Amino acid sequence: MVKYLMRFDDINSRQDWDRFFIIKNLLEKYNIKSILGVVPNCLDEDLYSGKSFDGYYDYLRSCKLYGDTIAQHGYSHVYDSNDKGFFGSCSKSEFAGHKLNEQLNRLEKGKKILEEEGLWDPVFMAPSHSFDMNTIFALSKLKFSTILDGFSILSYKKYDLNFIPQIASKPIPAFIPGLSQLCIHINTISDDDFISLKYFIRRNHHNFISLNNIIPKANFLNFIDQFFTYKFVNLFRKIRNLKNFFYKIFFKSRCFLQRLYYFSKFRKYDIYKWHLKGTFYCRQYKIKALEIIDSLKPDLYVDIGCGLGEILSKVKLEPSRKIGFDIDQGLTEIIKSNFRKNFIFFHKKQDLIKYLKNFSNTNNEIVVISMLNFIHTLSEDDLINFISELYKNIGSYVLLVDNIFVKSFQYKYSHHYYLLNHQGLIKYFPNVDNIRNLYFIQIN
Ligand SMILES: [Zn+2]
Repeated sequence: MVKYLMRFDDINSRQDWDRFFIIKNLLEKYNIKSILGVVPNCLDEDLYSGKSFDGYYDYLRSCKLYGDTIAQHGYSHVYDSNDKGFFGSCSKSEFAGHKLNEQLNRLEKGKKILEEEGLWDPVFMAPSHSFDMNTIFALSKLKFSTILDGFSILSYKKYDLNFIPQIASKPIPAFIPGLSQLCIHINTISDDDFISLKYFIRRNHHNFISLNNIIPKANFLNFIDQFFTYKFVNLFRKIRNLKNFFYKIFFKSRCFLQRLYYFSKFRKYDIYKWHLKGTFYCRQYKIKALEIIDSLKPDLYVDIGCGLGEILSKVKLEPSRKIGFDIDQGLTEIIKSNFRKNFIFFHKKQDLIKYLKNFSNTNNEIVVISMLNFIHTLSEDDLINFISELYKNIGSYVLLVDNIFVKSFQYKYSHHYYLLNHQGLIKYFPNVDNIRNLYFIQIN
């Protein structure tokens, strides 16, 4: 009968703590001990999800006292090598491919940080599961005893280190007589997987064990176990890649067909041509933004830089409570003849402000204002002034905004650090489509 081991990756002070506590409290209700993969000096902003947790180290110390294991999850979690190492599935690594001295240096610095905080345990968890022989030499030198990785279902000993296998992030079937190390990335776990995980813990809490209860031994079955598990993992990864390939084809075709439709329908209008290119199904950030806006259940939604108003048209709200604004005057005609019934449109800023002023938020209604693909031509001062001008006229609101992180002439201003460190930051979605981040900020 399989035993489950609970592991959280990418622990850092800016992770999604709300979600983390929901799972952690549930685990503690059943007295389940977890492995917390802490990034000692997290410089990977892709692991951020919100504001920094003030009592971060105190909280981690309380977890250690409770019986959780602290695993050193790399050093800074910044990938600067393309080596997959022994177990990685993609070509990125903080360790594999680097010289022994470099790896030793990183691991030692990470260990020191955790030791100074009274948190270090001799357990290592590689970012992206990627490490090589030099990592193993360095870990041995630094007196690590355990690596949380490996393709097998039984734990084993090798190079004088304990290997605790990790083959799938989700639980393996209960009839398999081995170990299943669940691997949770709390910032990115989907809503469906989050619900399934809670359900799984409730149903299977008696089958969880703690890392301290695992004593890896040399076993004559180890070779067979590793051989067949490796074959299985490889096959699984091939199927997953194939599935992703078909998804990609599906998304690309959907985008192509929508573009074709927009071009045939709207090409005669005098509008900026990017409105016909960056359509809803061709822009991942628009799909994500719609998901966020609907989840907030707004009473009023304003889209600044709305283009053809694709997000506005799709948000679940009465048309009179959806307002679009765009500086492209050509849109007035197209919206009037095609989308008039979906939302109210302004192309002059003073008209928008006047309208919002009359609305004035007195009943504590939820107002969401998005500025997507809009702020990269505004200087920081102009952006701050615009945000406060809207606040003066409408009161508190939730701002959904993006920032493009690739450098180009077209994307003149980057507001990343202003937005990421904004005191009202509720949630940060890094790298939604390879060129931009989304920020979701309370403006008070
Ligand atoms: Zn990681």
